[in-house]
Amino acid sequence: MIPMVDLKTQYHNLKEEIDCAVLDAIESSQFILGPNVTAFEQESAAYLGASHAVSCASGTDALHLAILAAGIGPGDEVITSPFTFIATAEAICYAGATPVFVDIDPATFNIDPSLIEAAITPRTKAIIPVHLFGQPADMTSIKTICENHKLLLIEDCAQSFGASTGEQQTGTIGSLGCFSFFPSKNLGCYGDGGLVTCASAELADQIKVLRNHGSRIRYHHHIIGYNSRLDDIQAAILRVKLKRIDEFNTGRRRVAHLYSELLKDVATVPFEDGKGVHVYHQYTLLTDRRDTAMALLAEKKIASAVYYPIPLHRQEVFAAGCSGISLPVAEDVASRCMSLPVYPEMPEESVRMVAETVKAALS
Ligand SMILES: *Cc1c(COP(=O)(O)O)cnc(C)c1O
Repeated sequence: MIPMVDLKTQYHNLKEEIDCAVLDAIESSQFILGPNVTAFEQESAAYLGASHAVSCASGTDALHLAILAAGIGPGDEVITSPFTFIATAEAICYAGATPVFVDIDPATFNIDPSLIEAAITPRTKAIIPVHLFGQPADMTSIKTICENHKLLLIEDCAQSFGASTGEQQTGTIGSLGCFSFFPSKNLGCYGDGGLVTCASAELADQIKVLRNHGSRIRYHHHIIGYNSRLDDIQAAILRVKLKRIDEFNTGRRRVAHLYSELLKDVATVPFEDGKGVHVYHQYTLLTDRRDTAMALLAEKKIASAVYYPIPLHRQEVFAAGCSGISLPVAEDVASRCMSLPVYPEMPEESVRMVAETVKAALS
């Protein structure tokens, strides 16, 4: 059996250190906004090259709090990708704003910058590119558009911890970067967790207030905030894993590059521009016969998945507001994409077995 991810093997490799960190956190008994949270925020800001990093309860909350701190609200429009996890658009809606979906680039699966300007209206407040599957979006072009139209740039980095454009880490290019520590993400904890990075001290302070009941001083509340904090125990686990993030991402890239070498003749393999660093949160290829491939994989007890089968503008929840809209690239990619198992510890023989099976199905 080959799973999509193998969190148990990773835990066993780090067991001593993680067990120690968790027990220490319990012993200190500072469970909420304790010392591991502060240390993890400092360590992740240093790793990413961000001026500020504020943790919170999930990646969805990171997006929600970033959008609120940016001052986005009812009546505003936010441009984003239709080919992403629902949370990107949900967070826009939580703030009372409207997501506006712009089609994707067929090579990278990320929002296509050449289509953004046509979607800008007087109500547009921000653009939220998603670094999908660990592939950095075209930030140079998107940043220029944001500067020319005075729009905020908020990055959805839930799948891209450690990815970079070559010069900058994702999450440090726009005004705000939003990360998720859902267990299966490139940097994952053992529950839910999230982080917002930003260059501005003012925004960082606003997010700290929002995540903790609208309060800077205990029992003094000046705005309506939320209960959205990263647990100290989760921060302790993340500190152990953060030290290995480059090693994890290198392992993912090793798996991906072997897949691409073995599969390039039977399917469209992931694109890399040679400048940025793709960290392969998912290894996703395109084929007209994914049902055939997935059936043979299932027969051999190899996991595979479709991320994502329905683009957001075709989801029931958004369909009414998007009825006249056609986003042909996102629709085509959603109908032909499939993702293969990828995790840092994946043995080479497993990668070869998966690739052989896909090849047998598609050739
Ligand atoms: C996982 C994910 C999120 C949400 O993160 P959670 O921690 O699960 O709330 C948001 N956006 C994208 C692109 C994701 O993959």
